[in-house]
Amino acid sequence: MRVLVLGGGVVGASIAYRLASRGAEVVVIERSAVACAASGKSGGFLARDWCDGTPLMELARRSFALHAELADELGNPWGYRRMTTYGGVVGPPSGRMPRNTAAAWVSPNVRISGQLGSTNTTAQVEPAVFTAAMMRAAQERGARLWLGTVTGLLQQDDDVVGVDCAGETLEADAVVIAMGPWSVLAAQWLSLPPVFGLKGHSIVFETGDQLPPEALFLEYAESPRSSLTPEVFPRADGTTYVCAISSEPPLPIDPRHVTPDEGAIDRLAALCARISPVLAQSPVRTSHACFRPVTQDGLPLIGAVPNVRGAYVATGHSVWGILNAPATAEAVAELVLDGATTIDLSAFDPARLPPLDPRQLRSL
Ligand SMILES: Cc1cc2nc3c(=O)[nH]c(=O)nc-3n(C[C@H](O)[C@H](O)[C@H](O)COP(=O)(O)OP(=O)(O)OC[C@H]3O[C@@H](n4cnc5c(N)ncnc54)[C@H](O)[C@@H]3O)c2cc1C
Repeated sequence: MRVLVLGGGVVGASIAYRLASRGAEVVVIERSAVACAASGKSGGFLARDWCDGTPLMELARRSFALHAELADELGNPWGYRRMTTYGGVVGPPSGRMPRNTAAAWVSPNVRISGQLGSTNTTAQVEPAVFTAAMMRAAQERGARLWLGTVTGLLQQDDDVVGVDCAGETLEADAVVIAMGPWSVLAAQWLSLPPVFGLKGHSIVFETGDQLPPEALFLEYAESPRSSLTPEVFPRADGTTYVCAISSEPPLPIDPRHVTPDEGAIDRLAALCARISPVLAQSPVRTSHACFRPVTQDGLPLIGAVPNVRGAYVATGHSVWGILNAPATAEAVAELVLDGATTIDLSAFDPARLPPLDPRQLRSL
């Protein structure tokens, strides 16, 4: 069976890996570069039980287990490791909080209020390296990467027969849409609910071996009207990733045109300097902005597209795309190749939400 996977983010690359491992002929079509969007610029934090009690529970628990298996099986160049995770509050500049007994590397004006996860329940990966490794592992199993922009879907009666890439035709028995927030473009060709992009900003510091594997989820009242929730993840490669500051500007059509909002990186850098003296003194390796894909009800779209045979979608993973990519990929490979899945995908059925009217797309 020949399957085209549209999008080379963590979801597309992971699906390509699972499909190719099971013998499918796979082509990943990526507009710009593998992991060029959120999958290369996100936190990479993983939690086993933070989705418990929600429809994501089974997907998240299975994914958490698969991340450990993948690191064992494929050599772990992506720095998978378990972490201890704390929550806390950043106080006002002059405020001195009680001395912390945990995460001793934070500034005196940060109060650690509790432990949110242990090395049994929380972990991390470096997401750009993880995504590239999934793509490489897929290629080693026969998948191909095609750099091109998907501009249309080819159908014969009610069957998908391929895609159009700016004038070039690629034929297929099945197509999986995994273009992150750009999956919204597929609503021109198929009956699909809207997918939105929510922008986030981040800085990666070169902290060397100064910080232990301790993740922080903090709250900070920047002003009476603005409160921020910075997340801090020291990584195995000697860098520390910090993200905060969300916004909702329009999604640029070309992922290469995503840039930080004016002033956002300076605001984030100032906040980082308040969180820890190590961050205040460490060189910045890079800073980013990226869009995470979200849906109307906050749950991903994973499953067969209604009314068209051979069309599937896997997107809308919001803040848990790196975590949930492995079990999403396993389930999509089962759906495409076997017609049924081991885990229950009914909560993610694309038919549960009203489709986007393509006329609305023109105004996006
Ligand atoms: C600041 C921030 C921090 C985050 N932290 C975490 C975290 O700690 N843990 C976690 O689990 N998740 C986290 N996330 C969420 C996670 O990053 C996303 O859910 C995930 O990366 C989405 O992956 P994706 O493959 O669906 O989409 P993307 O990474 O957006 O990939 C989509 C791909 O499709 C390609 N594309 C677009 N248009 C076309 C076209 N026409 N033709 C071909 N290709 C096309 C793009 O170039 C891109 O490569 C975070 C997100 C943000 C924004």
